[in-house]
Amino acid sequence: MAEPLLKVENLEAWYGESHILHGMDIEVREGEVVTLLGRNGAGKTTTLRSIMGLVGRRSGSVRFEGQELVGARSDRIARAGIALCPEERGIFASLDVTENLMLPPKVRDGGMDLDAIYTLFPNLKERARSPGTKLSGGEQQMLAIARILRTGAKLLMLDEPTEGLAPVIVQQIGRTIREIKERGFTVLLVEQNFRFAQTVADRHYVVEHGRVVDAVSNAELSGAMGRLHEYLGV
Ligand code: ATP
Repeated sequence: MAEPLLKVENLEAWYGESHILHGMDIEVREGEVVTLLGRNGAGKTTTLRSIMGLVGRRSGSVRFEGQELVGARSDRIARAGIALCPEERGIFASLDVTENLMLPPKVRDGGMDLDAIYTLFPNLKERARSPGTKLSGGEQQMLAIARILRTGAKLLMLDEPTEGLAPVIVQQIGRTIREIKERGFTVLLVEQNFRFAQTVADRHYVVEHGRVVDAVSNAELSGAMGRLHEYLGV
């Protein structure tokens, strides 16, 4: 079988003296939506940040399209085609929607242009001239996702995109992720909301104490809830 788009092997990561990841193993194939599930503090965010080269120290292997990225700086990792949409979204309050979209540079060919983004996100088009401060939480999340589609990344890593959003907006985010997948993007998603995860993902990894403790297909997730209860706290 062809090598997965992303292959993380025995990834360890430290913040200063704190050893946070203890040998993460993850594979994501091109076109898949894969989630990292697990409790607060399990190491999900740190996994995304480590893939992106944003932790103090890491060891192990992160291969993307066959290229080794442990040891590479985050700007090179971005140019390789990986983007991270952080939990705090990072919308610039003083800039309007279009300016926020245009801010990050295109790092490689294949990024969506503004027209394509506004076709995919009609609500953002309506708000094109609204400053970041005037956007709802859901609009900010859409903008944060739209912004990384422009950069040309192939693998989009989304950290808790549904955090703090009303159920109807959560459904919208779900539709957006499914559309992104249809357009051929690959998504690695951190989620606490496993019911939401179930509506978008092909597969799930369960993370606990900085390592993967279980892996299930989406079809298996409901049946595995008894077994996963301990890790997911549901
Ligand atoms: P959450 O949903 O709460 O973000 P998580 O599974 O994403 O949970 P992480 O944010 O990756 O967990 O945190 C894993 C561990 O690393 C936690 O014990 C946390 O306190 C610690 N940690 C996170 N960021 C830092 C940091 N900058 N410096 C030191 N320790 C950190």
